[in-house]
Amino acid sequence: MNCEFLVVGAGIAGASAGYELSRHGSVVLLEREDRPAYHSTGRSAAFFTVNYGNRVIRALTEASRAFLSSPPDRFAAHPLMAARGVLTIARADQMETFEANLAEARKLTDEIAPVTVAEAHRMMPVLRPDYVAAAHFEAGQYMDVDLLHSGYLRALTGRGGKLVCGAEVRRIERVGGVWRATTPAGDFEAPILVDAAGAWADEIARMAGVRGVGLVPKRRTVIIFPGPEGVELNGAPMVIDVDEQFYFKPEAGKILASPADETPSPPCDARPEEIDIAVTVERIQRASRLRVARIEHSWAGLRSFVADKTLVIGPDPDTDGFLWLAGQGGYGIMTSPAAARAVAALATGGVWPGDLAAREVTAEHLAPGRPALAADRNASAP
Ligand SMILES: Cc1cc2nc3c(=O)[nH]c(=O)nc-3n(C[C@H](O)[C@H](O)[C@H](O)COP(=O)(O)OP(=O)(O)OC[C@H]3O[C@@H](n4cnc5c(N)ncnc54)[C@H](O)[C@@H]3O)c2cc1C
Repeated sequence: MNCEFLVVGAGIAGASAGYELSRHGSVVLLEREDRPAYHSTGRSAAFFTVNYGNRVIRALTEASRAFLSSPPDRFAAHPLMAARGVLTIARADQMETFEANLAEARKLTDEIAPVTVAEAHRMMPVLRPDYVAAAHFEAGQYMDVDLLHSGYLRALTGRGGKLVCGAEVRRIERVGGVWRATTPAGDFEAPILVDAAGAWADEIARMAGVRGVGLVPKRRTVIIFPGPEGVELNGAPMVIDVDEQFYFKPEAGKILASPADETPSPPCDARPEEIDIAVTVERIQRASRLRVARIEHSWAGLRSFVADKTLVIGPDPDTDGFLWLAGQGGYGIMTSPAAARAVAALATGGVWPGDLAAREVTAEHLAPGRPALAADRNASAP
Protein backbone atom coordinates (compact mmCIF):
# COMPACT_ATOMS: atom_id res chain seq x y z
CA MET A 1 0.00 0.00 0.00
CA ASN A 2 1.30 3.49 -0.88
CA CYS A 3 0.83 6.74 0.95
CA GLU A 4 2.61 10.06 1.44
CA PHE A 5 3.43 9.71 5.14
CA LEU A 6 4.14 6.45 6.95
CA VAL A 7 4.07 6.83 10.73
CA VAL A 8 5.47 4.02 12.89
CA GLY A 9 3.77 3.76 16.30
CA ALA A 10 0.22 4.75 17.23
CA GLY A 11 0.68 6.02 20.76
CA ILE A 12 -0.02 9.69 21.42
CA ALA A 13 3.01 10.74 19.34
CA GLY A 14 2.07 8.81 16.21
CA ALA A 15 -1.64 9.57 16.53
CA SER A 16 -1.09 13.32 16.92
CA ALA A 17 1.50 13.42 14.13
CA GLY A 18 -0.85 11.46 11.86
CA TYR A 19 -3.62 13.90 12.71
CA GLU A 20 -1.54 16.92 11.67
CA LEU A 21 0.03 15.24 8.62
CA SER A 22 -3.36 14.12 7.30
CA ARG A 23 -4.10 17.79 6.54
CA HIS A 24 -1.32 17.61 3.93
CA GLY A 25 -1.56 14.14 2.37
CA SER A 26 -2.36 10.47 2.84
CA VAL A 27 -1.19 8.89 6.10
CA VAL A 28 -0.80 5.30 7.27
CA LEU A 29 -0.17 4.68 10.95
CA LEU A 30 1.46 1.32 11.67
CA GLU A 31 1.00 -0.14 15.15
CA ARG A 32 2.46 -3.44 16.35
CA GLU A 33 -0.13 -4.09 19.07
CA ASP A 34 -3.79 -5.00 18.58
CA ARG A 35 -4.76 -1.69 20.18
CA PRO A 36 -2.95 1.59 19.79
CA ALA A 37 -2.46 3.03 23.31
CA TYR A 38 -1.18 -0.20 24.86
CA HIS A 39 2.25 1.12 25.93
CA SER A 40 3.25 4.46 27.55
CA THR A 41 0.25 6.40 26.29
CA GLY A 42 -2.19 4.15 28.11
CA ARG A 43 -0.14 4.20 31.33
CA SER A 44 0.38 7.89 32.11
CA ALA A 45 -0.72 9.93 35.09
CA ALA A 46 -2.67 12.18 32.69
CA PHE A 47 -1.46 15.43 34.17
CA PHE A 48 -0.97 18.79 32.48
CA THR A 49 1.43 21.16 34.23
CA VAL A 50 3.73 23.84 32.86
CA ASN A 51 5.98 23.44 35.91
CA TYR A 52 7.71 20.32 34.59
CA GLY A 53 10.78 19.69 32.48
CA ASN A 54 13.30 22.08 30.96
CA ARG A 55 12.61 25.42 29.25
CA VAL A 56 11.84 23.89 25.83
CA ILE A 57 9.48 21.30 27.35
CA ARG A 58 7.66 24.01 29.30
CA ALA A 59 7.27 26.07 26.13
CA LEU A 60 5.92 23.05 24.19
CA THR A 61 3.47 22.39 27.02
CA GLU A 62 2.32 25.99 27.11
CA ALA A 63 1.96 25.96 23.31
CA SER A 64 -0.28 22.88 23.62
CA ARG A 65 -2.64 24.42 26.12
CA ALA A 66 -4.92 26.16 23.59
CA PHE A 67 -5.63 22.92 21.70
CA LEU A 68 -6.22 20.89 24.86
CA SER A 69 -8.48 23.54 26.43
CA SER A 70 -10.38 24.27 23.28
CA PRO A 71 -10.05 21.52 20.65
CA PRO A 72 -11.60 21.86 17.20
CA ASP A 73 -15.36 21.25 16.82
CA ARG A 74 -16.33 17.58 16.99
CA PHE A 75 -12.80 16.54 18.04
CA ALA A 76 -14.09 15.23 21.37
CA ALA A 77 -17.51 14.69 22.94
CA HIS A 78 -16.36 16.10 26.31
CA PRO A 79 -13.70 18.57 27.48
CA LEU A 80 -10.18 17.17 27.18
CA MET A 81 -9.05 18.84 30.39
CA ALA A 82 -10.51 19.33 33.85
CA ALA A 83 -9.15 21.82 36.36
CA ARG A 84 -7.23 20.16 39.18
CA GLY A 85 -4.55 21.78 41.27
CA VAL A 86 -1.01 20.62 41.90
CA LEU A 87 0.34 21.09 45.39
CA THR A 88 4.13 20.91 45.47
CA ILE A 89 5.40 20.21 48.97
CA ALA A 90 8.80 20.43 50.62
CA ARG A 91 10.25 19.33 53.94
CA ALA A 92 12.48 21.69 55.92
CA ASP A 93 15.59 20.07 54.40
CA GLN A 94 14.29 20.72 50.86
CA MET A 95 13.86 24.49 51.12
CA GLU A 96 16.67 25.36 48.73
CA THR A 97 15.16 23.24 45.96
CA PHE A 98 11.73 24.60 46.80
CA GLU A 99 12.81 28.24 46.35
CA ALA A 100 14.57 27.43 43.06
CA ASN A 101 11.57 25.45 41.77
CA LEU A 102 9.17 28.26 42.60
CA ALA A 103 11.38 30.95 41.04
CA GLU A 104 11.72 28.90 37.82
CA ALA A 105 8.00 28.20 37.64
CA ARG A 106 7.02 31.83 38.16
CA LYS A 107 9.12 32.91 35.18
CA LEU A 108 6.64 31.02 33.01
CA THR A 109 3.29 31.43 34.63
CA ASP A 110 1.55 33.44 37.30
CA GLU A 111 -0.70 30.44 37.95
CA ILE A 112 1.76 29.21 40.57
CA ALA A 113 1.88 30.80 44.00
CA PRO A 114 3.22 29.86 47.43
CA VAL A 115 0.62 28.81 50.00
CA THR A 116 0.95 28.61 53.77
CA VAL A 117 1.40 25.26 55.44
CA ALA A 118 -2.08 25.64 56.92
CA GLU A 119 -3.53 26.19 53.44
CA ALA A 120 -1.65 23.15 52.16
CA HIS A 121 -3.25 21.04 54.89
CA ARG A 122 -6.66 22.45 54.12
CA MET A 123 -6.24 21.51 50.45
CA MET A 124 -4.91 18.03 51.28
CA PRO A 125 -6.06 17.15 54.81
CA VAL A 126 -4.23 13.81 54.93
CA LEU A 127 -0.75 15.39 54.86
CA ARG A 128 1.19 14.77 58.09
CA PRO A 129 1.30 17.98 60.15
CA ASP A 130 5.05 17.68 60.83
CA TYR A 131 6.06 16.79 57.25
CA VAL A 132 5.42 19.92 55.19
CA ALA A 133 7.59 23.01 55.68
CA ALA A 134 6.57 24.85 52.51
CA ALA A 135 4.20 24.42 49.58
CA HIS A 136 3.15 26.06 46.37
CA PHE A 137 0.00 25.60 44.37
CA GLU A 138 -0.55 25.54 40.61
CA ALA A 139 -3.86 25.58 38.81
CA GLY A 140 -3.05 22.41 36.82
CA GLN A 141 -5.32 20.17 34.77
CA TYR A 142 -6.14 16.50 34.36
CA MET A 143 -6.24 15.38 30.75
CA ASP A 144 -8.59 12.75 29.38
CA VAL A 145 -5.85 10.87 27.54
CA ASP A 146 -8.14 8.30 26.01
CA LEU A 147 -10.42 11.01 24.62
CA LEU A 148 -7.45 12.97 23.25
CA HIS A 149 -5.83 9.92 21.66
CA SER A 150 -9.09 8.64 20.15
CA GLY A 151 -9.90 12.19 18.96
CA TYR A 152 -6.64 12.31 16.99
CA LEU A 153 -7.30 8.89 15.49
CA ARG A 154 -10.92 9.61 14.60
CA ALA A 155 -9.99 12.87 12.86
CA LEU A 156 -7.12 11.13 11.06
CA THR A 157 -9.36 8.38 9.69
CA GLY A 158 -12.06 10.97 8.92
CA ARG A 159 -9.57 12.63 6.57
CA GLY A 160 -8.88 9.33 4.82
CA GLY A 161 -5.89 8.26 6.94
CA LYS A 162 -5.48 4.63 7.98
CA LEU A 163 -4.57 3.00 11.28
CA VAL A 164 -3.26 -0.54 10.85
CA CYS A 165 -2.91 -2.52 14.09
CA GLY A 166 -1.09 -5.84 14.32
CA ALA A 167 1.43 -4.28 11.93
CA GLU A 168 4.80 -4.69 13.59
CA VAL A 169 7.42 -3.10 11.38
CA ARG A 170 10.09 -5.79 10.96
CA ARG A 171 12.08 -4.47 8.04
CA ILE A 172 12.61 -1.05 6.51
CA GLU A 173 14.25 -0.37 3.15
CA ARG A 174 14.69 2.74 1.04
CA VAL A 175 14.37 2.06 -2.67
CA GLY A 176 14.26 4.80 -5.30
CA GLY A 177 13.48 7.55 -2.77
CA VAL A 178 10.67 5.56 -1.15
CA TRP A 179 10.58 3.83 2.23
CA ARG A 180 9.13 0.33 2.33
CA ALA A 181 8.08 -1.05 5.73
CA THR A 182 7.45 -4.77 5.92
CA THR A 183 4.88 -5.92 8.50
CA PRO A 184 2.71 -9.03 9.08
CA ALA A 185 -0.20 -6.90 7.82
CA GLY A 186 1.52 -6.22 4.50
CA ASP A 187 4.11 -3.89 2.95
CA PHE A 188 3.64 -0.12 3.12
CA GLU A 189 5.46 2.51 1.08
CA ALA A 190 5.91 6.27 1.37
CA PRO A 191 8.57 8.87 0.60
CA ILE A 192 8.44 10.08 4.21
CA LEU A 193 8.63 7.91 7.33
CA VAL A 194 7.98 9.35 10.80
CA ASP A 195 9.52 7.35 13.64
CA ALA A 196 7.05 7.69 16.54
CA ALA A 197 7.77 4.29 18.07
CA GLY A 198 8.16 5.48 21.67
CA ALA A 199 10.74 3.40 23.57
CA TRP A 200 11.52 1.56 20.31
CA ALA A 201 12.35 4.68 18.25
CA ASP A 202 16.10 3.92 18.17
CA GLU A 203 15.32 0.35 17.08
CA ILE A 204 13.20 1.62 14.19
CA ALA A 205 16.02 3.98 13.20
CA ARG A 206 18.56 1.14 13.20
CA MET A 207 16.20 -0.96 11.05
CA ALA A 208 16.23 1.90 8.53
CA GLY A 209 20.02 2.20 8.65
CA VAL A 210 19.80 5.47 10.60
CA ARG A 211 21.97 6.32 13.61
CA GLY A 212 20.13 6.29 16.95
CA VAL A 213 19.75 9.31 19.24
CA GLY A 214 20.68 7.55 22.51
CA LEU A 215 17.14 7.03 23.73
CA VAL A 216 16.94 5.60 27.28
CA PRO A 217 13.55 4.20 28.31
CA LYS A 218 12.99 4.56 32.06
CA ARG A 219 10.44 2.60 34.01
CA ARG A 220 7.92 4.40 36.21
CA THR A 221 5.57 2.62 38.61
CA VAL A 222 2.03 3.48 39.60
CA ILE A 223 -0.25 1.96 42.24
CA ILE A 224 -3.94 2.47 42.96
CA PHE A 225 -5.35 1.93 46.45
CA PRO A 226 -8.61 2.80 48.21
CA GLY A 227 -8.92 6.37 49.50
CA PRO A 228 -9.21 7.07 53.23
CA GLU A 229 -12.52 6.45 55.01
CA GLY A 230 -14.34 9.53 56.20
CA VAL A 231 -12.09 12.10 54.48
CA GLU A 232 -13.48 13.81 51.40
CA LEU A 233 -10.71 14.18 48.83
CA ASN A 234 -12.92 14.70 45.81
CA GLY A 235 -11.45 17.67 43.94
CA ALA A 236 -8.32 17.77 46.12
CA PRO A 237 -5.07 18.55 44.29
CA MET A 238 -2.36 16.20 43.18
CA VAL A 239 0.52 16.31 45.67
CA ILE A 240 4.07 16.17 44.43
CA ASP A 241 7.34 16.14 46.34
CA VAL A 242 9.55 19.05 45.24
CA ASP A 243 12.42 16.62 44.48
CA GLU A 244 9.97 14.38 42.60
CA GLN A 245 10.50 11.48 44.98
CA PHE A 246 6.79 10.65 44.96
CA TYR A 247 3.39 11.96 43.95
CA PHE A 248 -0.19 11.02 44.65
CA LYS A 249 -3.58 12.16 43.45
CA PRO A 250 -7.12 11.36 44.48
CA GLU A 251 -9.13 9.80 41.69
CA ALA A 252 -12.75 8.67 41.97
CA GLY A 253 -12.52 7.67 45.63
CA LYS A 254 -9.14 6.01 45.18
CA ILE A 255 -5.56 7.21 45.34
CA LEU A 256 -3.10 6.95 42.46
CA ALA A 257 0.50 7.09 43.68
CA SER A 258 3.98 6.77 42.24
CA PRO A 259 7.54 6.78 43.65
CA ALA A 260 8.44 8.74 40.49
CA ASP A 261 11.04 6.07 39.72
CA GLU A 262 13.24 6.34 36.65
CA THR A 263 14.90 2.95 36.27
CA PRO A 264 16.62 2.45 32.89
CA SER A 265 15.08 -0.43 30.97
CA PRO A 266 15.27 -1.97 27.53
CA PRO A 267 12.18 -1.23 25.42
CA CYS A 268 9.58 -3.74 26.64
CA ASP A 269 6.10 -4.28 28.00
CA ALA A 270 7.04 -2.77 31.37
CA ARG A 271 5.84 -4.42 34.60
CA PRO A 272 5.96 -3.04 38.14
CA GLU A 273 8.66 -4.44 40.45
CA GLU A 274 7.84 -5.36 44.07
CA ILE A 275 10.61 -3.13 45.36
CA ASP A 276 9.22 -0.04 43.60
CA ILE A 277 5.74 -0.75 44.96
CA ALA A 278 7.22 -1.04 48.47
CA VAL A 279 9.08 2.28 48.04
CA THR A 280 5.85 3.97 46.90
CA VAL A 281 4.01 2.79 50.00
CA GLU A 282 6.84 3.84 52.31
CA ARG A 283 7.12 7.37 50.85
CA ILE A 284 3.37 8.01 50.75
CA GLN A 285 2.89 6.81 54.32
CA ARG A 286 5.83 8.95 55.51
CA ALA A 287 4.35 12.14 54.04
CA SER A 288 0.68 11.48 54.69
CA ARG A 289 -1.79 9.66 56.93
CA LEU A 290 -2.91 7.56 53.97
CA ARG A 291 -2.72 3.83 54.74
CA VAL A 292 -2.00 1.45 51.90
CA ALA A 293 -3.72 -1.64 53.28
CA ARG A 294 -4.59 -3.12 49.91
CA ILE A 295 -3.27 -2.32 46.43
CA GLU A 296 -6.07 -2.67 43.90
CA HIS A 297 -4.02 -2.23 40.80
CA SER A 298 -0.46 -1.46 39.79
CA TRP A 299 1.32 -0.90 36.52
CA ALA A 300 4.52 0.45 35.06
CA GLY A 301 5.27 2.33 31.88
CA LEU A 302 8.33 3.62 30.08
CA ARG A 303 9.29 7.28 29.82
CA SER A 304 11.99 7.60 27.17
CA PHE A 305 14.62 10.33 27.31
CA VAL A 306 17.62 11.48 25.31
CA ALA A 307 20.69 13.15 26.86
CA ASP A 308 19.22 16.66 27.21
CA LYS A 309 15.70 15.44 28.18
CA THR A 310 14.15 17.36 25.29
CA LEU A 311 11.95 15.90 22.56
CA VAL A 312 13.62 14.86 19.30
CA ILE A 313 11.62 16.22 16.39
CA GLY A 314 12.57 16.63 12.77
CA PRO A 315 14.41 15.23 9.79
CA ASP A 316 17.40 13.02 10.36
CA PRO A 317 20.44 15.02 9.22
CA ASP A 318 21.98 12.07 7.35
CA THR A 319 18.97 10.30 5.81
CA ASP A 320 16.41 11.71 3.38
CA GLY A 321 12.78 11.30 4.28
CA PHE A 322 13.34 9.93 7.81
CA LEU A 323 11.78 12.09 10.54
CA TRP A 324 12.02 11.67 14.30
CA LEU A 325 9.26 12.21 16.85
CA ALA A 326 10.77 10.69 19.96
CA GLY A 327 12.11 11.31 23.47
CA GLN A 328 8.76 12.41 24.94
CA GLY A 329 9.89 11.44 28.45
CA GLY A 330 7.25 12.27 31.04
CA TYR A 331 5.67 15.00 28.93
CA GLY A 332 4.43 13.24 25.81
CA ILE A 333 0.71 13.70 26.36
CA MET A 334 0.70 17.33 27.38
CA THR A 335 3.14 18.37 24.63
CA SER A 336 1.50 16.31 21.86
CA PRO A 337 -0.46 19.11 20.14
CA ALA A 338 2.58 21.38 19.73
CA ALA A 339 5.01 18.54 18.98
CA ALA A 340 2.72 17.22 16.24
CA ARG A 341 2.45 20.65 14.61
CA ALA A 342 6.24 20.93 14.71
CA VAL A 343 6.85 17.55 13.05
CA ALA A 344 4.19 18.27 10.41
CA ALA A 345 5.80 21.61 9.55
CA LEU A 346 9.19 19.92 9.20
CA ALA A 347 7.84 16.98 7.20
CA THR A 348 6.02 19.19 4.70
CA GLY A 349 8.45 22.12 4.43
CA GLY A 350 5.81 24.29 6.06
CA VAL A 351 6.19 27.39 8.18
CA TRP A 352 7.55 26.85 11.70
CA PRO A 353 4.66 27.29 14.18
CA GLY A 354 4.47 30.94 15.21
CA ASP A 355 3.53 30.14 18.80
CA LEU A 356 6.72 28.07 19.19
CA ALA A 357 8.82 30.83 17.61
CA ALA A 358 7.20 33.34 19.97
CA ARG A 359 8.28 31.14 22.89
CA GLU A 360 11.81 31.04 21.49
CA VAL A 361 11.65 27.39 20.49
CA THR A 362 13.34 26.79 17.15
CA ALA A 363 13.68 23.65 15.03
CA GLU A 364 17.34 23.50 16.15
CA HIS A 365 16.32 23.02 19.80
CA LEU A 366 14.50 19.82 18.82
CA ALA A 367 16.62 18.62 15.89
CA PRO A 368 18.03 15.07 15.99
CA GLY A 369 21.36 16.51 14.81
CA ARG A 370 21.70 18.96 17.73
CA PRO A 371 25.06 19.08 19.52
CA ALA A 372 23.69 17.58 22.77
CA LEU A 373 22.96 14.31 20.95
CA ALA A 374 26.17 14.15 18.91
CA ALA A 375 28.04 11.79 21.25
CA ASP A 376 25.15 9.30 21.32
CA ARG A 377 24.67 9.50 17.57
CA ASN A 378 28.36 8.94 16.97
CA ALA A 379 28.34 5.93 19.28
CA SER A 380 25.37 4.42 17.46
CA ALA A 381 26.42 2.54 14.37
CA PRO A 382 23.45 1.44 12.28
C1 LIG B 1 3.69 6.31 34.85
C2 LIG B 1 3.74 7.38 33.79
C3 LIG B 1 3.18 8.61 34.05
C4 LIG B 1 3.17 9.61 33.06
N1 LIG B 1 2.51 10.77 33.30
C5 LIG B 1 2.41 11.70 32.33
C6 LIG B 1 1.66 12.88 32.55
O1 LIG B 1 1.06 13.07 33.63
N2 LIG B 1 1.58 13.80 31.53
C7 LIG B 1 2.22 13.59 30.33
O2 LIG B 1 2.13 14.45 29.44
N3 LIG B 1 2.95 12.46 30.10
C8 LIG B 1 3.05 11.52 31.07
N4 LIG B 1 3.77 10.38 30.85
C9 LIG B 1 4.55 10.26 29.60
C10 LIG B 1 3.70 9.83 28.42
O3 LIG B 1 2.89 8.74 28.76
C11 LIG B 1 4.64 9.49 27.25
O4 LIG B 1 5.55 10.54 27.02
C12 LIG B 1 3.87 9.23 25.97
O5 LIG B 1 2.82 8.33 26.17
C13 LIG B 1 4.80 8.70 24.89
O6 LIG B 1 4.00 8.44 23.76
P1 LIG B 1 4.56 7.67 22.51
O7 LIG B 1 3.50 7.65 21.50
O8 LIG B 1 5.89 8.23 22.16
O9 LIG B 1 4.88 6.19 23.06
P2 LIG B 1 3.93 4.90 23.18
O10 LIG B 1 2.62 5.24 23.75
O11 LIG B 1 4.72 3.86 23.89
O12 LIG B 1 3.69 4.50 21.68
C14 LIG B 1 4.70 3.95 20.86
C15 LIG B 1 4.04 2.89 20.02
O13 LIG B 1 4.96 2.41 19.02
C16 LIG B 1 4.63 1.06 18.80
N5 LIG B 1 5.75 0.37 18.17
C17 LIG B 1 6.99 0.15 18.67
N6 LIG B 1 7.74 -0.55 17.81
C18 LIG B 1 6.95 -0.78 16.72
C19 LIG B 1 7.16 -1.48 15.49
N7 LIG B 1 8.33 -2.10 15.22
N8 LIG B 1 6.16 -1.52 14.59
C20 LIG B 1 4.96 -0.91 14.85
N9 LIG B 1 4.71 -0.25 16.03
C21 LIG B 1 5.70 -0.19 16.94
C22 LIG B 1 4.37 0.52 20.19
O14 LIG B 1 3.62 -0.68 20.17
C23 LIG B 1 3.62 1.68 20.83
O15 LIG B 1 2.21 1.52 20.76
C24 LIG B 1 3.80 9.37 31.80
C25 LIG B 1 4.37 8.12 31.54
C26 LIG B 1 4.33 7.13 32.51
C27 LIG B 1 4.92 5.78 32.19
